[in-house]
Amino acid sequence: MIQLFLPLNFLGFVYREIRRALTDLENMLGLLGRKPAITDRPDATVLKVQQGSVQFHNIRFGYQANRAILKGLSFSVPAGSKVAIVGASGAGKSTLARLLYRFYPLTGGQITIDDQDINTVTLDSLRQAIAIVPQDTVLFNSSIRDNIQYGNPDASAADVDQAIALAHLRSFIDSLPQGDATIVGERGLKVSGGEKQRIAIARAILKKSPVLVFDEATSALDSSSEQAILQAMREVARNHTSLVIAHRLSTITDADNIIVLKDGMLAEQGNHQQLIARQGEYARMWQLQQQQQT
Ligand code: ADP
Ligand code: MG
Repeated sequence: MIQLFLPLNFLGFVYREIRRALTDLENMLGLLGRKPAITDRPDATVLKVQQGSVQFHNIRFGYQANRAILKGLSFSVPAGSKVAIVGASGAGKSTLARLLYRFYPLTGGQITIDDQDINTVTLDSLRQAIAIVPQDTVLFNSSIRDNIQYGNPDASAADVDQAIALAHLRSFIDSLPQGDATIVGERGLKVSGGEKQRIAIARAILKKSPVLVFDEATSALDSSSEQAILQAMREVARNHTSLVIAHRLSTITDADNIIVLKDGMLAEQGNHQQLIARQGEYARMWQLQQQQQT
């Protein structure tokens, strides 16, 4: 009995260590600059996701007390829909993803998932429900396969292979002499921005979270990598609620709703056609980006 107890206890220890290491890694993903004390409330409940709808209710936030980034922003992401967030660099788009993942406490307002305030649920259950494809993905000095498996250490080999296929990484991996055993990261093979993003998408697929957040890379990708990423994103987003932070408007013309962020507030919203017809902020940004492309 004691002999059985010890190894199990030891496994529990190892498991906790791994979980902690994963949290540290998450913090490294560029989503967190500093580490405020965000912990579970004593009465925190486990988030129950039925539909996967997300709502931002009049949210206010600033990294510093004297500089507000979001000044009372409200919008909904209905279950299963794709909502895009656009706005100038520095508008607070990536901040929205960090707030949803509860890296920082809100100054005001509320974020709810299926009507449960994210502050009242356990961090574990919240972060299990959301998969973020960050703007800058960190690859570890390990094989490509390990880097993908990181999305869900419990996933089966078949699931990892499926994620590789859905993220449009198969032909890239097959072109490498050592295939998915190829070492990447600082000391390994240098992968392009587009490949890195697809590795991040594969991680998100493996995580099987009902809510997906894509923070598109700003770095200009060539149009074939962009197409591969867009296809991969569409595969993952099917049957999921997705929030897409977009730098290039051409990537979100199919969104169900587009939120235009300006000066910490919602400037306008609608689908691509509606916003073009409005001839406002979005139409102006669209015009500008069309010109830049030629
Ligand atoms: P976007 O993704 O729309 O380009 P961000 O959400 O990253 O913008 O940032 C919004 C604003 O908050 C910017 O002015 C940025 O400089 C500032 N900011 C971002 N992260 C931090 C941080 N960790 N500490 C202080 N200010 C920050
Ligand atoms: Mg950003």
